[in-house]
Amino acid sequence: ADSDIADEAVRATCDDASICKRFATSKGYWTDLYVQYFVRQVGERKAPEINRGYYGRVKGMNLLIDAFLKKTQCDCQVVNLGAGLDTTFWRLKDENIMPKKFFEVDFPMIVARKIHNINALLCCCVVMFFTVTFHLFNFVSLTDGHSLDSDRYCIIGADLRDLPTLEEKLKKFQINPELPTLFLSECVLVYMTPEQSSKLVHWVADAFPTAMFINYEQVNMNDRFGEIMIENLQRRQCNLAGVDLCQSLDSQKERFLSAGWESANALDMMTVYNMLPQEDVARIECLEFLDEKELLQQLLQHYCICWAVKDKLNLGEASILP
Ligand code: SAM
Repeated sequence: ADSDIADEAVRATCDDASICKRFATSKGYWTDLYVQYFVRQVGERKAPEINRGYYGRVKGMNLLIDAFLKKTQCDCQVVNLGAGLDTTFWRLKDENIMPKKFFEVDFPMIVARKIHNINALLCCCVVMFFTVTFHLFNFVSLTDGHSLDSDRYCIIGADLRDLPTLEEKLKKFQINPELPTLFLSECVLVYMTPEQSSKLVHWVADAFPTAMFINYEQVNMNDRFGEIMIENLQRRQCNLAGVDLCQSLDSQKERFLSAGWESANALDMMTVYNMLPQEDVARIECLEFLDEKELLQQLLQHYCICWAVKDKLNLGEASILP
């Protein structure tokens, strides 16, 4: 029962992420026409440093995702692990950079909710852009309410700690291990024990010869600021089982290197933030006045993006950054 409570608290984190994303987009940090279908209310005000943090997170992830799609010329797959209510698929569709197939995995309960929201979204879209949607969703089949499948988009309800079931379901929905495949995990692995996340990362490395894995999560958690972050999550009964791997950029990279990945990179979000197109950064910094610059800096230093590659097809993934 304790583990049920812990899992429930972990599942609730997908609302947090999307509520914050919805709020930041309502302020104009970036555009997301779809998040409103998954989070109905704009919600209460978030502090400017939180909005800037989410801006960096979304833009940083997008930078790497888009670079992979460009490198593979979209002749690839994307698998978003612990996708929650994420809207990346819709962005790629609108920007015309869709992979061959986009997979999402999350707990069956979350997936059921998401499918419900997508049905509402599709109803709206069908009215507005009938042909586009029809083309995309011609082949949607709702298998059991816990999964959705179409030719380009698939959502799977599964526990990432149960690898045999995960593998079976991905196969059932026609994942092709030979195709270059991008795995994403955004604030997900930290909720699993180091053994569980290491097995997952290992399995991906073994099963997909040409792959990239992008992981966004906490880092530098062994100082006072990190302790406070952990306490805040624990207060909500969220078990940060994987926090031991969030000690440093090196420990983040090591998780991949020791699991059979050829190379790994990791940057803290302060560095990523400074690498983003500075014109747009200047624009968002005018949206809300930020009193405490140091607070933003500290926050950004406690998150990172780590990416690892396996490049059997010699795509040159290791030098993916533009
Ligand atoms: N990646 C999304 C984003 O950034 O907006 C959601 C992040 S949310 C903090 C973490 C997500 O991981 C939740 O949706 C949760 O249900 C999912 N998750 C955590 N552990 C999982 C597991 N063992 N199996 C499947 N999903 C899991």
